[in-house]
Amino acid sequence: MEKTWVACNSCGSVNRVPFERIGQGPKCGSCKNALPFHGAIVDQNSKSLPNLIQASDKPIVVDFWAPWCGPCLSFAPTYEAVSKQFGQEFVFVKVNTEADPQAGAMYGVRGIPTLVVFTGGMEAQRISGALPAPQFTQWLSKARPAAGQNTQV
Ligand SMILES: [Zn+2]
Repeated sequence: MEKTWVACNSCGSVNRVPFERIGQGPKCGSCKNALPFHGAIVDQNSKSLPNLIQASDKPIVVDFWAPWCGPCLSFAPTYEAVSKQFGQEFVFVKVNTEADPQAGAMYGVRGIPTLVVFTGGMEAQRISGALPAPQFTQWLSKARPAAGQNTQV
């Protein structure tokens, strides 16, 4: 059964959730609080994001954004559409840097929106600015597990 990854924003525990359970209000296995799914996208904060990045065997895409940022809001539908397209390959994350300024500071985010891909616990690539969907998917494709590097051991 294919699963995705999410970390709990309350206790920080990393959870693996089968895709079919995403829409059923899955709860944290440790503290029983609701896991922060919005469709295929998860909200993470400075407590949960580092744990998710360390644990996940899928690449993590993070959209650092804020509610007051016009380009962030106009990029949101693109991000949502692309998350549906690539949701099996990546974990799509949003971090509200207004609600949690520390989360942006931890990853050196200076302007928003900033998009960062983490693979194997490390930052793989980042780009700033709201991208049109074709550019976003092209940029994302560079970080796909099958692209560019031999993942066979
Ligand atoms: Zn929890």
